[in-house]
Amino acid sequence: IKMFRTQKYQSKEAIMAKLKLKLVHLYPLFLNIYGDIGNVKVLKNRCEWRGIELDIQQFNIGDKLDFGTDIFFIGGGQDFEQQVLLEDLHQGKDNEIRSAIQDGLPFLTICGGYQLLGAYYETYDGHRCDFIGAIDFYTVGSARRMIGNYSFQCGDHSGGSTVIGFENHSGKTWLGKSVQPLGQVLKGCGNNGEDGSEGVRYLNVFGTYSHGPLLPKNPELCDIILRGKKIANDNELLIAVQFEKNNIVISNDKNKKLSVCSLTGKTG
Ligand code: GLN
Repeated sequence: IKMFRTQKYQSKEAIMAKLKLKLVHLYPLFLNIYGDIGNVKVLKNRCEWRGIELDIQQFNIGDKLDFGTDIFFIGGGQDFEQQVLLEDLHQGKDNEIRSAIQDGLPFLTICGGYQLLGAYYETYDGHRCDFIGAIDFYTVGSARRMIGNYSFQCGDHSGGSTVIGFENHSGKTWLGKSVQPLGQVLKGCGNNGEDGSEGVRYLNVFGTYSHGPLLPKNPELCDIILRGKKIANDNELLIAVQFEKNNIVISNDKNKKLSVCSLTGKTG
């Protein structure tokens, strides 16, 4: 195929060379069960398929957070691990995470990592973990282990797709009145097995009980997360490549054409 570029547009290569995002993976040594790291791999792949490089940086206990970041990921973990990281969390990471959320940074948080963003988790054996308090919800451990394959339907604010996953938690999460769930349970327990809600959607935070991992089975949700405020605000980050007659048209998320290449030799 012979390709010619029209003068007034940038080349596809020039556009894509600029597209770099950074993902922060918090506490991967402590919060990473049931293949949660698979979510990070899917985010990376789906960025790369669009010519966007995703630089992944891991931060564990003792590491200072670097907020020159675009996406934030926290996986799930047992009660024990959640208690082990508490001291580190309250040495500054809690404040930084609270303000990053208010600034609209996209977060994907799973199970124990999701619980971390609420006010507290009271384990079934009576330990109280004071968490970040970035979003109005709390979690209380119960005798019942909510375990098994489950599904839920995302709210319209989060794309409306049907998500399938796996849950395993004893914590029951209760959302404050001002906070919306990520979706409604179709099968299984979700937040608490009682009110039909699943996860949380707050600004650009997506919190869910879905392990499995979540994103390989639910790519539509992955793309909704990638459209978080900070990314969509940048004109050149989200790229659509379409075929129009004999041309390849590359446009950004706001439908602005960035480049047009002819497949036939005739410029379009
Ligand atoms: N320890 C928490 C609970 O049981 C979270 C578990 C998890 O991340 N799977 O509720």
